[in-house]
Amino acid sequence: MRIAMLARNSSLYSHQRLKEAAVARGHELDIINTLRCYMNIASRRPEVFHNGEKLTGYDAVIPRIGSSITYYGLAVLRQFEMMGVYPLNESVAIGRSRDKLRSMQLMARDGIGLPVTTFAHDPRQTEEVLRLAGGAPLVIKLLEGTQGIGVVLADSNRSAKSVIEAFRGAGVNILVQEFIKEAGGTDIRAIVIGGKVVAAMERTGAEGDFRSNLHRGGSAKRVKITPEEKSTAIRAAKSMGLNVCGVDMLRSNHGAVVMEVNSSPGLEGVETATGLDIAGKIIEFMEKHHKPWATKTKGK
Ligand code: ADP
Ligand code: GLU
Repeated sequence: MRIAMLARNSSLYSHQRLKEAAVARGHELDIINTLRCYMNIASRRPEVFHNGEKLTGYDAVIPRIGSSITYYGLAVLRQFEMMGVYPLNESVAIGRSRDKLRSMQLMARDGIGLPVTTFAHDPRQTEEVLRLAGGAPLVIKLLEGTQGIGVVLADSNRSAKSVIEAFRGAGVNILVQEFIKEAGGTDIRAIVIGGKVVAAMERTGAEGDFRSNLHRGGSAKRVKITPEEKSTAIRAAKSMGLNVCGVDMLRSNHGAVVMEVNSSPGLEGVETATGLDIAGKIIEFMEKHHKPWATKTKGK
């Protein structure tokens, strides 16, 4: 295959590993800076350019689009889709998972376990939103947050109210969630490829932190997950329409609940914790499934 990988930073562990895995399996992989791509949206003749060169002849594209450039990155990916190039994950599926409310609404419709989650725009609804979420302790999250930044635990309804007011004052959108105390500061990330869980790790937060993000000083180790947890992860991936993703779950008293589905899961933590060749498994999946004009959602 000739593969284009849309990524900004070519030296990132995950990007290097994908390139290595592709080359090792006899493919060619070009890392293309997403923000340097430009497009010509001509009727029936979609094209995409990069540094003065027209990008043609690719069999597949691997989107590794950072959350800060989702809008433009998805437009570039969509352009490849319009040219009939096989995307590892489709633009529409990535768009669903990037929007916390949209993704939770879709997963709720599909019957997937979720933490009780509420949101409202109008500050006059704050009391009601707190009540609907079951009252303190509550987790309040910035909708645009990532890597655990903007995730706050409020012990009382009073502190929940002041956190909400502070976020509102800053003009950002939030959601309010029941606090899954029994998870004990540990979450599970399952890597799903082509409807199968290929790896799972348990991430535990730094001492005294309820957030388990590796970026916040947490640590990771390989974990065996139950059939129910596997099925939850697989259904979450399917609900988003993602071929490859990382599904973050908490072990709650009411079973596994999904917090988030990540369409460009980082490979370093999970390959180190499990010793598995996830990059190789991703390329292998593409070998089996790539074909021209196969985009299910047709960019819609
Ligand atoms: P981000 O997308 O910024 O990583 P998350 O929603 O994944 O934010 O939350 C960060 C961490 O906080 C999670 O990995 C988990 O450990 C903890 N956490 C998030 N939501 C809850 C919750 N409702 N109950 C308990 N812990 C939570
Ligand atoms: N971007 C990383 C990922 O999706 C975040 C991991 C973390 O913060 O723990 O894997």
